[in-house]
Amino acid sequence: MLSAVDAHGRSVVLAGPEAKSLAIHLKEIPHFCPQCGGSLIVKAGDVNIPHFAHTSQSSCDSFSEHESPRHLAGKADLFQWITTTADAKMEARLPDGSQRPDILSGKIAVEFQCSTISAALFKERTDKYTTRGMTPFWIYGGKPVERKGSYIKLTPFQRLFLRYHPQLGFYFISYCPDRKGFTVYGRIIPVTPSLCAAERRFIKMKDMSFPPSAEVKGKHAFSLKAFFDEKRKWMDRALYFQNARRHPFFKAVYAEGRNPYLLPEQIGLPVRSGRAIRNHPAEWQFYILMDWKKRPAEETVRQRIELGHLKEQLLPLADGMTAETAAKEYTALLYLLGEENLTDSTSMGAKLQNEKAFMNTFSATVISKLIF
Ligand SMILES: [Zn+2]
Repeated sequence: MLSAVDAHGRSVVLAGPEAKSLAIHLKEIPHFCPQCGGSLIVKAGDVNIPHFAHTSQSSCDSFSEHESPRHLAGKADLFQWITTTADAKMEARLPDGSQRPDILSGKIAVEFQCSTISAALFKERTDKYTTRGMTPFWIYGGKPVERKGSYIKLTPFQRLFLRYHPQLGFYFISYCPDRKGFTVYGRIIPVTPSLCAAERRFIKMKDMSFPPSAEVKGKHAFSLKAFFDEKRKWMDRALYFQNARRHPFFKAVYAEGRNPYLLPEQIGLPVRSGRAIRNHPAEWQFYILMDWKKRPAEETVRQRIELGHLKEQLLPLADGMTAETAAKEYTALLYLLGEENLTDSTSMGAKLQNEKAFMNTFSATVISKLIF
């Protein structure tokens, strides 16, 4: 922990360029835990940044004594960054004692999360803030986002940090204490269940405002052509690694005597909230069209989730983006593209021709509904 009180009740925070000399000075003075009142010692070694620790194995639940060096360092940096322009409290408990964000600044609760926590706990902590009219500002501090060619790969834990901004689309902010800067991934669009197109920017902490404002530069680079190519690769992989007879999507396609590679271009399109479903859009959109005019698309999707054919992705920070929203967006898009005459191609050659014609006519429409 980085905050403590002295015998007179004055609070001390170990952050900023003077933290080390302050820590050495404070070593001789008794300090106490603001939560449990237990006595603390100052630790100022070479490995970790200066911090306080309970002297004895305490039952204090306020602070984990296992804060990693990375978490402590990031917390100290973020505190210093915020306090240059705003008031902030380090490790302050909310007035009702229910939560203790890393840093509290007005109604903004900053959480620098390095270790993986469950989606349920992430959502619970988020909801506790929002029901109090506060804004949780989660900053990812774990290991770097994996890159694959021009794409990125987000783990299920990293996906929890996704937020949505009308111009920036889905975005993701991480902070690295070693590089003293933020990496902002913007306009994140899944191209397959695991790969995403994204625009990446590194911003030095000193060049970032608090709270950060979304800065949108230039035109997006999303291409429907690349999306269609990735769809084919996804099918290749899915058919190679999984038993197609047991995969509910391929099973359903074959049961209708159809070829998954030759399905109409309108099946498997990116939509704004598609992130809320972990499967490829081809899967859930195929199910929707199977039930077309029999039931609302949202019902089809929900039913397939309950059957285990589709998996939901919780997005605690992207309000209202659910599997149902994705289904509704797809329905609206289909009406726009014309939902009549959805025909399969007759050969791979014909498929590529049809895809090209579709892109010439509809690329702009699909992309305009997708995000920007
Ligand atoms: Zn304590």
